[in-house]
Amino acid sequence: MNTNEVIEGICNDLTELEEEGHKQLGIKDLRLFNLNDTAAAFEHALREVLALDEVAPTDFFHSQSDWRRFVYSLLEKATTQRRQTRTCIWPQCSRLAKMSHTLSRRGPLHAIAENGHVLTPRINIETGQYEMHKIGVGRASTFPGFCCNHEQLFGAFENRGQLAAPAHISMQTVRTIFREIVTNELGLTCLDCTLQAYQSLLCERGTELLQAAMNKYLPQSLLGRMHITSTASTDGAIAIVTREISERKAYLDLLWHFLNRALDDLSGNKECLMHVAVTVNQPLPACLAGMGNFDVRDGKTSRRIHAVLNTWVTTDNSVIFITVKRSHKRYLLHYLSNYLDGQLFGPLSLIESWMVHGTDHWFVQPSMWEQLPFSRRRRILRDMSADKYNLGEQYLIPIFDGIRADTLRLSTDDTRT
Ligand SMILES: [Zn+2]
Repeated sequence: MNTNEVIEGICNDLTELEEEGHKQLGIKDLRLFNLNDTAAAFEHALREVLALDEVAPTDFFHSQSDWRRFVYSLLEKATTQRRQTRTCIWPQCSRLAKMSHTLSRRGPLHAIAENGHVLTPRINIETGQYEMHKIGVGRASTFPGFCCNHEQLFGAFENRGQLAAPAHISMQTVRTIFREIVTNELGLTCLDCTLQAYQSLLCERGTELLQAAMNKYLPQSLLGRMHITSTASTDGAIAIVTREISERKAYLDLLWHFLNRALDDLSGNKECLMHVAVTVNQPLPACLAGMGNFDVRDGKTSRRIHAVLNTWVTTDNSVIFITVKRSHKRYLLHYLSNYLDGQLFGPLSLIESWMVHGTDHWFVQPSMWEQLPFSRRRRILRDMSADKYNLGEQYLIPIFDGIRADTLRLSTDDTRT
């Protein structure tokens, strides 16, 4: 929207304003309310205010603490919504949901925990950067998911903490997609709240700015009655949030579609999904459950392949598995061959790429993370925010140093004996 369009919209209301001015101010100020003069006054003031388009969104607040108050009020709303009672996410179930684990407390979280705690990345709302956050295994990886009845569906592997049958892989895939749906639905609600709060703040501040600019041209008594209601399409921050909302909705559609296939897969229809699992005969110090994507070229066409990612660790071994639509089988096998064919540390590279270019829903053993050099930890967390990569990109900064070193030591010892 440009200045002329804004003015055109406002001019439609000017006749009403002019009549209002006559009523309020009496005959002595009548000359101020000549329609053309008033339109000119509006135009001049609006041009001054609209020039603020170039100002960063945070500059729109009166002070840094003003900005913080705004952000924390949004955070509080989001937290309240997260705590609000939700119904079970299982289709057609209307019972109340309890907090469900995506990664089992008795399985992967127990296997990597130290003193009952694990580390997980979380975005700092003020800086927008990832930071590691310590969390107890009772709360880690939980989301408002299933009612008590549907929670029991996962009991077969949840209580033992082990994936002992192919059906358990299907169950864990379903649970991972459900969590992604709930998390994105909550995120969408939070974005809607943010947009509304920011728009109302923009109107409030916009009114202040316009009133200040108009002060030179119109009587104060009339200015006090002015209020800007704005769709504010010229504001960059609003454009970003609006685009994010639209992308989030499209992603949710994709997730529901994926979920329906996963539920069919669970019912025994083998034509829906393709799972590939790799077992590493040692417990890794990390577990994860989330979504990611990689791009492939099929002739002249580029395709984006969405995948469900899991790393399930026990005290004996680690199962790394990935799931795509059955029709994407050949793309998945090609993707995996880039990591696994003839590469001793292929499974580790795979997980490292998933952690940085895929999902942020991962947990690590605290001592493993703290042993990494500080600069590398900072780099890894910073790289997680880069949108330009996907799972197809190998992540070249090692996270599992210790395991690589231990494996090499073991190999050397084997050679000597
Ligand atoms: Zn239910």
